[in-house]
Amino acid sequence: EDALNPLPDPAERDVESTLRPRDLGEFVGQPKVREQLELVLHGAMRRGAPPDHVLLSGPPGLGKTSLAMIIAAELGASLRITSGPALERAGDLAAMLSNLVEGDVLFIDEIHRMARPAEEMLYLAMEDFRVDVVVGKGPGATSIPLDIAPFTLVGATTRSGALTGPLRDRFGFTGHMEFYHPDELELILRRSAGILGVDLREDGAVEIARRSRGTPRIANRLLRRVRDYAEVRADGAVTLEVARDALAVYDVDELGLDRLDRAVLGALVRSFGGGPVGVSTLAVAVGEEPTTVEEVCEPYLVRAGMLARTPRGRVATASAWLHLGLQPPARAPG
Ligand code: ATP
Repeated sequence: EDALNPLPDPAERDVESTLRPRDLGEFVGQPKVREQLELVLHGAMRRGAPPDHVLLSGPPGLGKTSLAMIIAAELGASLRITSGPALERAGDLAAMLSNLVEGDVLFIDEIHRMARPAEEMLYLAMEDFRVDVVVGKGPGATSIPLDIAPFTLVGATTRSGALTGPLRDRFGFTGHMEFYHPDELELILRRSAGILGVDLREDGAVEIARRSRGTPRIANRLLRRVRDYAEVRADGAVTLEVARDALAVYDVDELGLDRLDRAVLGALVRSFGGGPVGVSTLAVAVGEEPTTVEEVCEPYLVRAGMLARTPRGRVATASAWLHLGLQPPARAPG
């Protein structure tokens, strides 16, 4: 089993949903986004109108879905959930939009992966609360404008750069989600341990927080794996020692890097002499999709100072060489 598998089984997903923060008060960290969002929401509530459309951007697992749910909850509105890849045909989106009730919040995850025709339909819906439904085919086709209820779109993306200009322009507010500080992850872990009834000790919490790649979803998942270990191989208490031993079993290293992270760094250093190398070449070398390497793996490696993105490709820093137990070449960036 992979402790960091991005697609947990359904039982794990249920646990995840019990751990979700329910309101802005329970939402730990992201002080900037929280403050900005509070103003957007409360301003709109004062005026009695649906707030501007909101875009949330950042690496996976930082709480974009949780924030979308919180936005709906704060507004006392219902949340409809879909995703870019699910909106293959514009008709799917038209059906979704025309079923909205005034004030609803529509959440589109991975909005950068929406098909073009659906995206174009969304422009008009966001701007004028209208969709053009095309009836018939060929030269006889006509388009019938249809009013839809004023709603708020919340889009989430791991790659705001991949959004087309016209789509990005139609969001009144973009929240940039950052990796969490270990202290914030510790708070999240304590809260989760309380909900799950895990005996999480201070030093155990510090250790798991430190190795969670700045990501709440990973912190919660590691907590569950360490808890298994604590119950099966120890007396149930999650101490520093138990956390260390358990994380070793799951191939999470001292810095919190997982197997894929290390495979990427390893390939970069061993097969490509530290780079520069293009991301697609790197992805082939580790047998992964380029988007996974780029959107799941790289942001944290960059943040941890292990990898640099240059115009000529990816480059391993001196810390990456040292982390793999190798001597960095003189030209490796610090
Ligand atoms: P994706 O982009 O892949 O959908 P996400 O960024 O939407 O990921 P969520 O699904 O919202 O991430 O969060 C993952 C889990 O992490 C949630 O179940 C929740 O328990 C926890 N979590 C995320 N952010 C916070 C937070 N700020 N405070 C407490 N828990 C959080």
